[in-house]
Parts: sequence; structure tokens; C-alpha cells
Amino acid sequence: MRDDCGTSPTICKAYKQYCYTPGRQEYLDMVTYTAHVGHNHPLIVSAGQSQLRQLLAGQGFYSQPLLDLVKTLHSILPSSLKHQYVINSGSEANDLALRLARNYTNGDDFIVFEGAYHGSLSNLLDLSTPALELLQLQKSPETHIVHPPDLYGGPFRDDDPDACNKYVAEVEAAITDIKERGGKLAAFICEPISVACGALVPPRLYFKKVFELVHQAGGVVIADETGCGMGRAGEHYWTFQHFDIVPDIVTVGKSIGNGFPLGIAITTKEVADSLGEHYSTFGGNPVASCIAKSVLEVIHGEMMLTSARSVGKFLVSELRSVQERVQSVGEVRGRGLCLGIVIVRDKETRQPHPQLARNIVARLERKGFLVSRGGLHKNVLLLTPPLCITQLDARQFTAAFEDALTEALSHPGVPGSSVSTSQGPDATPVPARTESHETEASSGNPLQMNKERKLIDEVITCPGNQVVLADDEELANKRRKTE
Ligand code: PMP
Repeated sequence: MRDDCGTSPTICKAYKQYCYTPGRQEYLDMVTYTAHVGHNHPLIVSAGQSQLRQLLAGQGFYSQPLLDLVKTLHSILPSSLKHQYVINSGSEANDLALRLARNYTNGDDFIVFEGAYHGSLSNLLDLSTPALELLQLQKSPETHIVHPPDLYGGPFRDDDPDACNKYVAEVEAAITDIKERGGKLAAFICEPISVACGALVPPRLYFKKVFELVHQAGGVVIADETGCGMGRAGEHYWTFQHFDIVPDIVTVGKSIGNGFPLGIAITTKEVADSLGEHYSTFGGNPVASCIAKSVLEVIHGEMMLTSARSVGKFLVSELRSVQERVQSVGEVRGRGLCLGIVIVRDKETRQPHPQLARNIVARLERKGFLVSRGGLHKNVLLLTPPLCITQLDARQFTAAFEDALTEALSHPGVPGSSVSTSQGPDATPVPARTESHETEASSGNPLQMNKERKLIDEVITCPGNQVVLADDEELANKRRKTE
């Protein structure tokens, strides 16, 4: 995702919201939605290490960590969603969700947002329009694409009081089309707050209306919480809760393992009964389960639903003050720490400006801030940092963003690649961020600061973790291809 914006730096160590290259360059990670509660959280690392020593293989029996995880997850789910399939990735969870939907409804048709991404398995590529385009694949006739309800840049906008209903009508039209072709709806699948569609938050009543239509047509609703869920949007664990709705199937990935591979599909008893047996060798692995349970404990113990909400609000207000000053920032949107900055040519036309967005991403990287681009037109800067970022990080990011934007407007060419020690002739040295990691909690508290400093030093000097630097273009290209 980031390679087209310059380089993706090679990271050898990470701690909390910071990543480090072998050359000790520090980056503020505003891009991960996998290191959800922070890279290498000590409680999660030690839970995983201790479980590795006790029981690694979980095939043929229930393990205690699996039962503990399922029980903990159950306590934060709506009561109707009782059945959990603990498997290995977000894609696998969505693939299973499609099977559940097909079995339960006897339908084969799916409705999905244009610009959505739901995973890399062959079943799912069909529901991920950017992947179809990239791989030059034909969409199957059972996939029906509707516009995501984008009141800023979509076909129906905030100047139209009936815009929400017009987006709902597209779903209705898709259902009619399915019936006329003699098909049957299996599911409407979406991210309730869509990272892929540029941190898009649909109008409040959109999902209620769509859910009603889908259920009337005999279909089910799949909420893909892989990227946006687990508290990222603040206030609630699940983004569907922001709309006061309960889906029939919920899928989780990425964040629940904080970097460890894991996915979960969750559904009702009725839907689960239609599947019969499901088997996966590594699904419910004791180490993965133990790690996932620790992630939930950290979210709860460190009050991350509240902090994601308040730091997110602060970051939005900082970014909106930039938006007021410049023409190129059309909208700052999202919830909690699931945010998007929409880059446009000007505020009147709202015409997307993907080249400028790309230029800003590359310049931010040089300043030590990792972000990615998304949205239908690739003109949205996506901010999905670990939930432990602070107001200080938010302030520093905003300042760097405004600088990067100013530079990009005056030098439209995207700066060249490489920020490693083997920089090319056009490489701008990256200002050191290695002293900038003090959190607000630690600032002013020398004991805490020393402790954090020591941890960071351990993180970036630990032996045996050196990587070979890609110091020629061919090697760098090879690395990118493998990644
Ligand atoms: N759904 C969404 C919304 C995602 O963002 C992703 C990953 N980007 C997936 C599913 C697939 O997850 P994984 O890569 O873990 O298979």
C-alpha cells in the first residue's frame, strides 16, 4: 500500500507507537492497524512467551486459553452472537462468513461497497473492487456493487437532504436486480466504518434501513470488523455499535492478535447450525488465543476505548484547524483513531487529488511519520495508529502534516525513495525522531522517562536482530515483491 509513495522503510524493532530501522531512525507508526494496542506490548509478549512454554499445539482437544478467549469475547458481544470460530486471519474469517451466509440463506449473491477490501482469498477478491482492478480480473455476476454512502465525495452529497435514502435505494435496486435474474441474496458485507473506503462513516440511519431491506430479501449482514473494530473507533468495541445495529455475522482479524496471526468469525446459533462441522488445524491455537485474550485485557485495563475516543477527537480538532487554513484538505473524517484526511484540488469542486496525497505520504515518511493512502480515488490519507498514541503525538503529526502539505504544494514531484543509510542523491536526510518518544504520561516524570528510555534502548540495540540493509535497487525491489 505504501510502496507507490516512496519506500517502505525496513523496520527491525518496534515499541508502542514507534518503529525503528537498523540505523536507529525512529518513525511514529500512524499506519498499523495490526499492532493495535502498541507494538510489543510487554503484557502481550510475556503472555505469549509463557504460553509457548506450556502448550503450543491445540489440535484434538479444547485448550484452556481458547476457552478463556471465547468467554472473554462473549462478554463484549451482543447476546445473539454466541458462536465463535477461532481461525487464522481476517481473510479466513471472511471466507468462512461467506460460507455461513450461503449455507444459511441458500443464496449465492453478495452486495458490497465499491472500493471495499475483505481479503485475499479467491472468494474474497471478487468482493474487493480495487483488487479486481489491480489483478485485471472480471467480477462474477453474483457480486453486486453499490456506492459507499459518502456524503462528501460520492454521487449524492451533503447538499442533498435525500442523499442517505438515495444510497439506500442503490441497495434496494441491487436486490431487485438479483431477484430479476433468478438469484437469491446471501449477504450484504461491509466494514461499518470503512477504512478501505477512506475512513468513511455512513450517515446514522443508513445501516438500519439497509439491514431491513437485506433481511426482507432473506439475506444476512456481515460486519467486517477486521480493520475498524476492537475499539479503534473509540467508545465501543465494535463499529456496528455506533449505528445501534446487530449484524448476523461479525468477523475480526488483525487487531485481535496485535500482530499475531488470528481471525474470528462470530455468528448466531441459527446461522452456525447451517454449517455443520468446521475444522482448522491451527484455528484456536493456544498461543494465539492467549495473546488475543491479553489484547482484550489491555484494551480494558488501559481504558483504550476512552483514550481512542479522546485522542482521536483531539487529533481531528488539530487537523481541522489545518483544514480551515488550506484549500487542499477537503474533509477530516472518521471516529476515534480510525481517521481519514481527504485531499482535494479545491474545496469548491471537491475533485480528488491522489497525486498530492501520494506526495504528502512520501514527505511524511521522510519526516518520520508512517501513513497510508486509501479511498476510492486514493486521495485519502488513512490514520490508523496504535491505540496508545498520545496528544503529543497527535500535535507532532499535525505539524509534520502541515509542513509536508506545504512542501508538496510547492514541489509537486514525489521525492525519491530510500531513507536508509544507503540514500540516493535526492534523498533528504530525515530529522531524528529518536528523542521524541516521551509520552504525556512520562513527560515531567524523570523516573518514568528513564524507564521508557531504557526500554527503547533495549528495543533498538537488542543483538541478534540486525537485518541486512537493502543497499541496492535490485535487492530493494526483490524485497518489495516478496512483501
Ligand atoms: N478485511 C479487512 C477490512 C481488511 O482490512 C483486511 C486486511 N487488510 C482483511 C479483511 C484481510 O485480513 P488478512 O490480511 O489478515 O487476511
